[in-house]
Amino acid sequence: MTEEQEVFHQHIQRAGLKRTAQRDLILEVFLRTEEHLSSEDLYRLVQREDPAIGQTTVYRTLKLLTDAGLAREVRFGDGRTRYEHNYKHPHHDHMICTECGKTIEFFSADLEKLQDKIAARHKFEITNHTLRMFGYCADCRSKDARRDRESSAAEPRVRFASAPGTS
Ligand SMILES: [Zn+2]
Ligand SMILES: [Zn+2]
Ligand SMILES: [Zn+2]
Repeated sequence: MTEEQEVFHQHIQRAGLKRTAQRDLILEVFLRTEEHLSSEDLYRLVQREDPAIGQTTVYRTLKLLTDAGLAREVRFGDGRTRYEHNYKHPHHDHMICTECGKTIEFFSADLEKLQDKIAARHKFEITNHTLRMFGYCADCRSKDARRDRESSAAEPRVRFASAPGTS
């Protein structure tokens, strides 16, 4: 049994629930991915291995994983709750591409220290924080640049074709 399984089973026992093959599989699938999954995403992955598992079971099990400290919720501002590994996964922050939805995880000790300093200046005690930076990832930026180049190269032709005789 892995450490995560042990944590999960202890939590399940404490909650007065039973250990089931379905719950075990959901945990296994969750641990296998390093993505930020919504419960629908996880449901789709679980479905591939056991079509008998319902969406509600996946949703409830994700809640159990969160309560057990194995998963944590992350929100990227699109109204969907996503989950990532929490157990032995140290704190990090996220950059989110608003074009393709890709997320980049990063950690900066300098930034963390700076946040503490700012909080102290306001006599504020931080208990938790999330930092999200929204923008365009490298892929989307280069796609965008390519599109710009192509459209500016095509521009004179388009102008001529759409407005003959006006120039
Ligand atoms: Zn942080
Ligand atoms: Zn992108
Ligand atoms: Zn993350």
